[in-house]
Amino acid sequence: MSTFLTETGTDSNVTTVSNEAAREKFQTYLAKKGLRVTEQRLAIFEAAFGQKEHFTAEQLLDHARAIDDSVSRATVYRTLPIMTEASLVREVDIGKNLKYYLPNADNNPQVAQVICMDCDKIFEISAPFMEWYGNTVSSKLGLTPVSQRLQVSAHCNALKQTGTCKNLN
Ligand SMILES: [Zn+2]
Repeated sequence: MSTFLTETGTDSNVTTVSNEAAREKFQTYLAKKGLRVTEQRLAIFEAAFGQKEHFTAEQLLDHARAIDDSVSRATVYRTLPIMTEASLVREVDIGKNLKYYLPNADNNPQVAQVICMDCDKIFEISAPFMEWYGNTVSSKLGLTPVSQRLQVSAHCNALKQTGTCKNLN
């Protein structure tokens, strides 16, 4: 359980999928869906995979337009679910009206989030125990798990103690 509570991407046990492989997967997935591989869709893909932090659909639109200014809002909103479905992007619902996304650049499907309610920072942590836990409790009930999620809402210690935090702009 050496991967317990390490931030994703920093663990050497996690295989990183190259952008090349991800791009290929995206193109294959579009073809499978009968959709054309357009410059705009590729710009959205590149914009999404260039992000290190969580982003909203509107932020993705800005990033994609910086690459190709002909990208429309509608195309972004249509392409995001396709990337999510293809497991290229992970959707993070933190219970607000806004959905956040993050490129799924590592091969670890079991990821949990710790959310700072004060600073709105979302920390992604690998959570291999979740798979074990989901399988164990489901099999006792004669069920096979399809998905599971773990989210921890938290208050910021640094903010409480010092009145400021590096995650606050
Ligand atoms: Zn904070």
